[in-house]
Amino acid sequence: MQPIKILSQELISMIAAGEVIDGPYSVVKELCENSIDAKAQNIDIFLEDGGKSIIRVNDDGIGIESRFLELSLKRHATSKLYSKDLLDIKTLGFRGEALYAIASVSKIKINSRTTDMSEAKEVVAKYNNVLSIKPQKGKRGTRITVEGIFDDIPARKKFLKNINAEAIRVRDVVKKLALYNTKINFRYYEENEIKFGFDYKGVQDSALEERLIQVMGNEFKKNSLKIKYFDEDQEILGYIGIPTYNKSTWKDTAIFINGRLIKDKALLGVIKAAYSGLIPGNRQPVVVLFISVKPERIDVNVHPAKTEIKLENKKFLNSRIITLIRDVLKKAGLIDSISNEKALLSKINATNLGNRANQEIDFSNNIEKRVTSLKELEIIDDVEVDRNRLLGVARAQINKMFIISQTENSLILIDQHAAHERIVLEKLKNYYFKKSQILSQNLIIPEIINVEENKDLIFNNQDEITRLGIFFEDYADTNILVRAIPAILGKPNIQHLIDDLIKEIRIIGKIDPKHPSIERILSGIACHNSVRAGRVLNIEEMNSLLREMESTPNSSQCNHGRPTFIKLNLKDIQSLFGRT
Ligand code: ADP
Ligand code: MG
Repeated sequence: MQPIKILSQELISMIAAGEVIDGPYSVVKELCENSIDAKAQNIDIFLEDGGKSIIRVNDDGIGIESRFLELSLKRHATSKLYSKDLLDIKTLGFRGEALYAIASVSKIKINSRTTDMSEAKEVVAKYNNVLSIKPQKGKRGTRITVEGIFDDIPARKKFLKNINAEAIRVRDVVKKLALYNTKINFRYYEENEIKFGFDYKGVQDSALEERLIQVMGNEFKKNSLKIKYFDEDQEILGYIGIPTYNKSTWKDTAIFINGRLIKDKALLGVIKAAYSGLIPGNRQPVVVLFISVKPERIDVNVHPAKTEIKLENKKFLNSRIITLIRDVLKKAGLIDSISNEKALLSKINATNLGNRANQEIDFSNNIEKRVTSLKELEIIDDVEVDRNRLLGVARAQINKMFIISQTENSLILIDQHAAHERIVLEKLKNYYFKKSQILSQNLIIPEIINVEENKDLIFNNQDEITRLGIFFEDYADTNILVRAIPAILGKPNIQHLIDDLIKEIRIIGKIDPKHPSIERILSGIACHNSVRAGRVLNIEEMNSLLREMESTPNSSQCNHGRPTFIKLNLKDIQSLFGRT
């Protein structure tokens, strides 16, 4: 191995803020990255109590020479940076801070042996104090055990989530590391058992696709399209989910730049923009992207957890990614009109690419749609209008999305889905709080729903979920069988309904009817009513929606705080035409 040295002061100051260890998942990430840098073929990860009591990572890599074992725990001690050239880095670590940071918040045991050593050496340290260092049994490679993370640091311990939630974050890290490091065998154990198929066999010759199926599952493979691009400065390779294969979070999306898993909100915004108009605002596509750029064009030290990066040619990369995604969706016949593409791209380049940009894009698309459909609008004679009706009389529906109604002195545009959602929420609340059980409808054919690793979580909440009107029972593997859903929802997509519910429960761990979070859960359920935008309504149905709105509390805003209707005074309309 290369000698471990303390970095020079000069290099230290070039490197950004300290390594962030904020829970078991970041320990697992750092330890695995060290194993990968050490050229391990096998990496075994063990978690107990969600990593709160024990995290162990065993590898068969090059090991740490005994004379460097103690030094490896020191701050800024690394064997990976030999030149002063920070820009030309090919290893995952290089700042020499991870082991130091982990050792500062736990009890750590490192047992390691190189090929030159006749036996292993083991160091034990607690809160950075070395307790013992002695020869010990052990094969070639490194075994690191981290015990009782944050145990004596209550201020940080309190930010740890429950066992299940912490384990979920760790699984996510393991999956993503396995995705890119295709040649390494990864095995992941919880309470000494491999669960959820976390036994990833290495594949040779970077058979990315095979690994992709192992990690992302066959379902993703079936529902995704391949994208590929390269020029002299960069290479983009990836799989993008088709629009209907969407999820409630970005959790399954993985973006790697030069082998580093990055988390970059702006880039997610770009991806979402590429799916603009194809996926509802509250759902996310699933995308796996492997991007390679020349090392000199990248600065990985922007974020201490190395998940955000600064790229020289980010703008180019962003628009390339959008074009690639749009092109492949178009070729697959999944986009019928891409006439907005140019406008979309220029919007993206002009704005800051965050979520806001994304909303603006959706908005501009909608405007175009609205304008075209105005042609379909009926011409209406002036007729008697009931003055007592706040929302007037429905006149027409445009674009299967909006209702136009008329009162004596105004014209009202109603967002039919938003309005319906609010009505549904108020009804759900009424049932839930006043009758303490949401009215449910039995499904004629019960539906099998995949809940992935969340089975324990939802069975822990079964009574409360039943109270929400959803009846389910256990089914094979990672599935449950849903027998009944809230009656008011009509015919929603039940998988999406359950996905979203799980997402909410994961945040809180346990549903508590007395906690304000219940409102979010109910509002999430209300989103799944089947009278969405896109349904043709006749005049009678429109009017009955307006009447329901009038009698529903808070009906002027949808559950997300957006207006459900917009009122234009005739006077204002007149002034728009210069008639004052
Ligand atoms: P960095 O990875 O940035 O160099 P770390 O604190 O993560 O810093 O590790 C310090 C050093 O300890 C590494 O540079 C490497 O020499 C050694 N090391 C850590 N983990 C392993 C491992 N699993 N196998 C071999 N060497 C390791
Ligand atoms: Mg490291």
